[in-house]
Amino acid sequence: MKFKLKVGGLLLAVAALGLASPLSQPVFEKISYNGYKVYRVSLANKDAVGDTPVIELQSRRSDSGTWTVDLAVAPSNIGAFEASGLHADRTVLSHDLGADFAAESRISVQSSGVSSKGALPGLEWFNAYHPYADHVQYWADLQAALPNNSELIVAGTSFQGRPIQGIHLWGKSGKDSKPAIFFNGNVHAREWITSIVVEYILYQIVTGYKSDPLVQKVLDNYDFYVLPVVNPDGLVYTQTTNRLWRKNRQTRSNTTAVGTDINRNWSVGWGGDGSSPVPSSETFSGYAPLDTPETAALAAYTRKLRDLHGIKLYVDWHSYAQVILLSYGYTCTGFPANIDEQIDLAAGISAAIAKPYNTTFDYGPGCLVLYQSSGNGRDYVTDVGKAQFGWGIELRDTQYGFVLPPEQILPSGIEIWEGLKYAWSQF
Ligand SMILES: [Zn+2]
Repeated sequence: MKFKLKVGGLLLAVAALGLASPLSQPVFEKISYNGYKVYRVSLANKDAVGDTPVIELQSRRSDSGTWTVDLAVAPSNIGAFEASGLHADRTVLSHDLGADFAAESRISVQSSGVSSKGALPGLEWFNAYHPYADHVQYWADLQAALPNNSELIVAGTSFQGRPIQGIHLWGKSGKDSKPAIFFNGNVHAREWITSIVVEYILYQIVTGYKSDPLVQKVLDNYDFYVLPVVNPDGLVYTQTTNRLWRKNRQTRSNTTAVGTDINRNWSVGWGGDGSSPVPSSETFSGYAPLDTPETAALAAYTRKLRDLHGIKLYVDWHSYAQVILLSYGYTCTGFPANIDEQIDLAAGISAAIAKPYNTTFDYGPGCLVLYQSSGNGRDYVTDVGKAQFGWGIELRDTQYGFVLPPEQILPSGIEIWEGLKYAWSQF
């Protein structure tokens, strides 16, 4: 198997790599991040972050085989962190993470200024982040704006009892008559940009179906099943308590640790490298495959769509890295049979994404272009769901991280829609 993938702007020819690195990181249940600094460090081994307590925010393999890792450090640990020889090669991404969060929420969650109450808001919806309840109302408003070609759907129920809901849209042949395009957003709670970009995609479909030939073509040929927030408990928790929360809010026997990584709990590759059996880990895989209600519901929905008319494209939307992740994540040495076709489509999408703002999106099998992750959704939807394209896409950015300024919501949506229009033109 040989193909080309794009990493750091370079096109690389890849035969096979055999790399493994278990992901484990400390968990901090702090509500305040005042005075926390965020560093980007270059490390030989992504897990060798040193003895100083840190919160790992993101990591990725670099072209040279080293790792670029973003770490948040508490004020009391900054001195020791900076003194460590391990962190000599560092840049500061944020001087006060708590101040960043405060600025973000002043203009978003607590007073977004945009509340959809039965009428579909215009593009002003994308000027701010929104409370979870407003998202739910927004989906209802989207559905009501295209009433004959859509319905609200519920894929299951979260651990705390919230419906995992979204929208199903279809074209002129009627509902459930075409292969599926299946989107999941906000599986990781702190990745706020993902749900609102998915909403931007929905907005373009709902408003474009009346007049845009490309939207008409894709919606007439595919049924869209879109779940903008598949981890509602986690998203609510990031808005009430801990902005950096990642997992679901599941409690379990034999541990006081809360939360399982929904994106390590799928059954394909479950429990392998790039996931953790430790309940306090940010990448805790659960005690058994599909033992979170959220993952179980999404897996059942995947199988339903597979059996209905098959799955053309699945995208699990994440942030932050700016990478199109193809399968597989659980292995660096095995690839889907149609990997060359997948690379070609990803290359076209990446080029289209770059058109509006020159934003760079790399692409390739997730294990090679980002890091190994076992038990993730795209691998399951590829192998069990038999999707032609079973992907994850890591959205903006590479500087602000999870606290992407609201001014970047609309550009992020615009460039992703450009990328998807390329996909629609090929489908
Ligand atoms: Zn994620």
